[in-house]
Amino acid sequence: MHEMSLAEGIRTIVEEQARRHGFARVKLLRLEIGRFAGVEKSALAFAWEIAMRGSPAEGAELEMLDLPGKALCYECMETVEIDDRLAPCPRCGGGRLIPQSGDEMRVRDMEVE
Ligand SMILES: [Zn+2]
Repeated sequence: MHEMSLAEGIRTIVEEQARRHGFARVKLLRLEIGRFAGVEKSALAFAWEIAMRGSPAEGAELEMLDLPGKALCYECMETVEIDDRLAPCPRCGGGRLIPQSGDEMRVRDMEVE
């Protein structure tokens, strides 16, 4: 389950931040997840509970925010938002889209104490 390794990656980030900034506990963590990141949210929520045990983020709330997929259209040279990697350009209907973003996952911010 790749959500478990994602959750462990977040735990590493949390522990580094806690050391650097000297906080003891995370109350809330906001995570941005790209539309094409292939993250199963329910699986990640489950993995989160397990991976954070014994870390500063144990019991913290996890908020998952969607990031839209973006692509550059070679027909109209606009950056457009797409729901599907194989979808045509929503602006001009062109089929030559170069994905720009949407497969990333990152910690946006945390509420700590
Ligand atoms: Zn276009």
